[in-house]
Amino acid sequence: MNSLRDLQQGETGIIIKVKGRGAFRKRIMEMGFVVGKEVKVIRKAPLKDPVEYEILGYNVSLRNSEADLIEVINSNEQGRLFLNEFDGIVEDEYFRQNSVRKDKIINIAFVGNPNSGKTTLFNLASGSRERVGNYSGVTVDAKTARFRFNDYLINVVDLPGTYSITSYTPEELYVRNYILEEIPDIVVNIIDAGNLERNTYLTTQLIDMDIRVVVALNMFDELQKRGDKIEYKALGNMMGIPMVPTVASKGRGIEELFETIIRVFEDNEPTRRHIHISYGPLIEKAISSIQHKIKVSYNSELTDRVSSRFIAIKLLENDQEEEKRINEQCKNHKEIFRCVARQQERILKNRRETAETLITDAKYGFINGALKETVQPGLYARRRKSEIVDTFLTHKLFGLPLFFGFLWFMFETTFSVGKYPMQWIENGISFLSESLMHTMQAGMLKDLLIDGVLGGIGGVIVFLPNILILFFFISLMEDTGYMARAVFIMDKLMHKIGLHGKSFIPLIMGFGCTVPAIMSTRILENRNDRMITMLINPFISCSARLPIYILFISAFFPNSQGTILFLIYFTGIAVAILAAIILKKTVFKREDVPFVMELPPYRIPTLRSITKHMWEKAWQYLRKIGGVILIASIIIWALGYFPVNQELNETYLQKKQNIEQEYLSSVQLSPQESDSIVHQKLKNEFEYQIGLLEVEKSVEHQENSYIGTLGKTVQPVLAPLGFDWKMTVSIIAGVAAKEIIVSTLGVLYQQGPSRRNTADNSLINKIQTQKYTEGPNQGEFVFNPVVAMSFMVFVLLYFPCIATLMVIIKESGSYKWGVFSLVYTTVVAWLFAFMVYNIGMLIYA
Ligand code: GDP
Ligand code: MG
Repeated sequence: MNSLRDLQQGETGIIIKVKGRGAFRKRIMEMGFVVGKEVKVIRKAPLKDPVEYEILGYNVSLRNSEADLIEVINSNEQGRLFLNEFDGIVEDEYFRQNSVRKDKIINIAFVGNPNSGKTTLFNLASGSRERVGNYSGVTVDAKTARFRFNDYLINVVDLPGTYSITSYTPEELYVRNYILEEIPDIVVNIIDAGNLERNTYLTTQLIDMDIRVVVALNMFDELQKRGDKIEYKALGNMMGIPMVPTVASKGRGIEELFETIIRVFEDNEPTRRHIHISYGPLIEKAISSIQHKIKVSYNSELTDRVSSRFIAIKLLENDQEEEKRINEQCKNHKEIFRCVARQQERILKNRRETAETLITDAKYGFINGALKETVQPGLYARRRKSEIVDTFLTHKLFGLPLFFGFLWFMFETTFSVGKYPMQWIENGISFLSESLMHTMQAGMLKDLLIDGVLGGIGGVIVFLPNILILFFFISLMEDTGYMARAVFIMDKLMHKIGLHGKSFIPLIMGFGCTVPAIMSTRILENRNDRMITMLINPFISCSARLPIYILFISAFFPNSQGTILFLIYFTGIAVAILAAIILKKTVFKREDVPFVMELPPYRIPTLRSITKHMWEKAWQYLRKIGGVILIASIIIWALGYFPVNQELNETYLQKKQNIEQEYLSSVQLSPQESDSIVHQKLKNEFEYQIGLLEVEKSVEHQENSYIGTLGKTVQPVLAPLGFDWKMTVSIIAGVAAKEIIVSTLGVLYQQGPSRRNTADNSLINKIQTQKYTEGPNQGEFVFNPVVAMSFMVFVLLYFPCIATLMVIIKESGSYKWGVFSLVYTTVVAWLFAFMVYNIGMLIYA
């Protein structure tokens, strides 16, 4: 067997195999280097790199390192070349008769834990008599054999048994180097099915190496004898590795094993795909920054053969063998090592654990998750501590209620504990605006600062404590390992709507605030799942919408408050589910790939990682407040403030002076000695009148401001839903943040000046009694239960607020999705509100 590199100038060869991996393999095959094709050396100077070849009528140049990975037979030499490689007897006849099948050779390597039955399987397959023993260390070095199976000549090597592929023992090193240097076509991982957890650890390392693996679930008889059940097909699907049950000692399953090997070799096995074991954001970030350093073009000789992800993981684990490899083969090795050291330090600082420990933990988390889902232990199976806890927390009956109980506790605490700091912040804001009120001169700047900046930001910053508390719980759930269990519990349910168990977390968070909820979709690795979760999240009613419901429910549904509120929330959830199903079937149509949900070991969380989590979220939130929300508030304020109407100002100034005059004269009229009660009464009345006047003024001003004009312009669009122009304005204002809707309604519907503690009631009262003053409906009530319902449904579903829109754009990485979300939620809101209004009116009238 020659490599393409061995061909001389002018010689022609036929490709019999393309080695190498991943991107290299794909690229080279796309160039036409596929089995059976003829390739000719066009130009080859001594020591010259790259070399020019002709394939499929094209001339392409390959580096020598690349040509090394392509096996050819020299057209002139025919099949004889095969024989040099092996010491055994392979009949010439075979090659002569099967000249078409010359390329049909598969090199496979057996790896697995000691005593898993490798040698037994090897002997059985090859017909040789290697010594087998029921203790480890019998196989000292590799034995090779070859045999025919169907159309193929199969070369198989029985490697020493190992528990892992680190470089601690000579056996492990041998196995690792064999795989990386010899590049077998298929690695057969022999697993003792009776000891899955320990045996699959090696499998996780093979997954990291990004090579083609087939698993033989050997000793399947032992597993069955114990009464354990395993859904090995599902397990294989999750891991991207085909699995075949075998009983080597009885010769069962061997045919299937080799048939599977051939299917994988021919790229005909749908189960096989390359997956990544997720090591958590911290480690993943470290891996990708190291990979980035390794994957520079002049290192491609290395990365064509060895997965850069594998190297990065091994470097993080301080693996000496891989350090040596980098030292020898990468020019930028110093830079790589610096990067590794930096990342290791970062990990240690953050988690108080070495990268190696965390990686091992994640591997076991992966294994536990995979096995938990696919293996049903028999009656007498051993249970370990973590498993005992798991049987409770992920129990079929108790698991879900326990989880919901915890969620309830989390939300309850979020609000009950959060209300104190919330009060402090509120006080702080009002203190600030009071002081501005008294110290600043009247004018536009003052109005801007008080109404625009403080009013806008103040309404939002009060939620900061809630967000911190919520994130405290979420980090707690993540760090203890409970989150993984929660996801596990919810997975079946979520699958029904085409989502992943992990999507549940962002959806739940959406009840608090959509912004952090959308940020938390980062926990989803699959982009489709992530996008759907992001796009349906705005339908989950966030806490900013609650005041609106409370207002309208108190006004129009006094007898069934709880039911209506539940109905509203339920509508949101139902629409979200519907949207998920539709999005899954249309925009994000793609076959679901099964994957492992990791069940990492339980551990005590560190204060450091939790506070870091909380700080990160707080910082993100503060930045959002300082950015988008500030700008939006100022814009809304300005739209309501301009144009300044001098005439109106003067009229109201006049009216104000009149009232003052009246007050002063009545104070003078009343006798000095008469008790101060009369004076107080007069003063109260005066203040009330002034307040009323100011509201009147602001209403008239609002109506003529840009936002008023905008409201009247847009109103026809919302008229079919039963909205008047004022509701339309509040809907528009609510785009900045839904909290703003209630305050806008308050201003527009002439909420009376505050007579202590009756502010809310008076707004409720105003809405109940509001009538149309003009237009075709003149004299009719603006609101009735149907309009209220239609309004609530619209508020529930329409336009996610600006901040949400911004995170969607940021997290999805494209403006397109922001626009999409804006348009489709508003259309959905319109349709639903239209339905509610029209059907409701039929019933109501
Ligand atoms: P190696 O260390 O991986 O090479 O394992 P061996 O091939 O030496 O096998 C270890 C022991 O397991 C031997 O006693 C085998 O007979 C036994 N064995 C191998 N395969 C099976 C199997 O499928 N079922 C059972 N019950 N025993 C097996
Ligand atoms: Mg052996």
